Amino acid sequence: MPSTPAYAAPAAGKPLAPFSVERRDPGPRDVEIDILFCGICHTDIHQVRDEWGGSTFPMVPGHEIVGRVRQVGKEVTRLDIGDLVGVGCMVDSCRACEPCRHGTEQFCEQGVAWTYGSTLMDRKTVTQGGYSSRIVVDQKFVLQVPAGLDPAGAAPLLCAGITTYSPLRQWGAKRGDRVGVVGLGGLGHMALKLAAAMGAEVTVLSTSRAKEADARRLGAAGFEVTGDDAAFRKMAGRLDLMIDTVSAPHDYNRYLGLLRPHGTMVLVGVPPEPAPVAAGALIGGNRRLAGSLIGGIAETQAMLDFCAQHRIVADVEVIPIQQVNQAYERMLKGDVRFRFAIDMASLKQG
Ligand code: NAP
Ligand code: ZN
Ligand code: ZN
Repeated sequence: MPSTPAYAAPAAGKPLAPFSVERRDPGPRDVEIDILFCGICHTDIHQVRDEWGGSTFPMVPGHEIVGRVRQVGKEVTRLDIGDLVGVGCMVDSCRACEPCRHGTEQFCEQGVAWTYGSTLMDRKTVTQGGYSSRIVVDQKFVLQVPAGLDPAGAAPLLCAGITTYSPLRQWGAKRGDRVGVVGLGGLGHMALKLAAAMGAEVTVLSTSRAKEADARRLGAAGFEVTGDDAAFRKMAGRLDLMIDTVSAPHDYNRYLGLLRPHGTMVLVGVPPEPAPVAAGALIGGNRRLAGSLIGGIAETQAMLDFCAQHRIVADVEVIPIQQVNQAYERMLKGDVRFRFAIDMASLKQG
């Protein structure tokens, strides 16, 4: 197969630059996809900068992929040429272990094959992600994007969408619940839209006063600026559930005080450094601190169907790939409403 145009980081913290990846010829159960759009997740920035350790280079990031099926293997029955499809954070798993059999492939006991910066299940073939023209993925890890969803806005659903939908479902967010969303970025704005669609009364907790009007437009009933101690006094003991999407270090103890007794704070943001948690912040009120990692394949399809039913996509700023390095800088300054989606047609321009 001819090599596929892409953008890669050549080494930790270095700017992304044109690159080419070799994609395999599609096997019997494979789907070859022409990528239309790929969202930029903050995880791409953490990984390119090797902030969590263990990144490998050259790295083609990108795990919020939407595209059209170009070719299918002969055993592929679910999908056809021309279908609008998505690929998220995973491209394979063992399929036999208990987590795989129970639809939580992200916890595969053999180690899941991540879409980039990982290896396939042969543990040899390095995976490269969606900042590229094409990708070949086993049909089990290819999602159907329902009709009616804008392809650019749907791309971020494949990570930001499922990562926030899953904990809202796990912790049973429902009509009338008071849900807090900490950080109004890519994940945060999806958490807000999804929780509001589930009927919850959502309060956004943000460092940026300037985001209030957007938060209210997206369905927030309340908005508090976290630099302000009065906000923590006002909100103390009020929330049933909190989804913390913040990518940088912050004091979890302050936020735990916002939960009502038996309330739960779920961490989805992954700051590079650990942060101390005081036992008393949990013990007072039997509060719970939890974490959540993306979501399984079946749940991702359920999320896409829920989004189609409620007409939810991400708010995206579409950029050509040539602007990816500036986009990273802008994300670090909080200067995006609320997700960048790379238009892969721009790769043809070199
Ligand atoms: P993002 O778009 O950059 O949003 C992060 C938000 O955090 C910002 O918009 C900002 O919101 C807030 N923030 C940033 N710096 C802050 C600081 N110093 N103090 C307080 N708040 C700050 O990032 P994202 O793509 O949503 O990703 C968020 C995090 O989730 C990343 O760490 C990413 O790696 C992680 N993630 C986890 C999973 C998972 O499976 N658990 C999946 C995907 C991503 P305000 O301006 O509103 O304060
Ligand atoms: Zn992501
Ligand atoms: Zn497994």
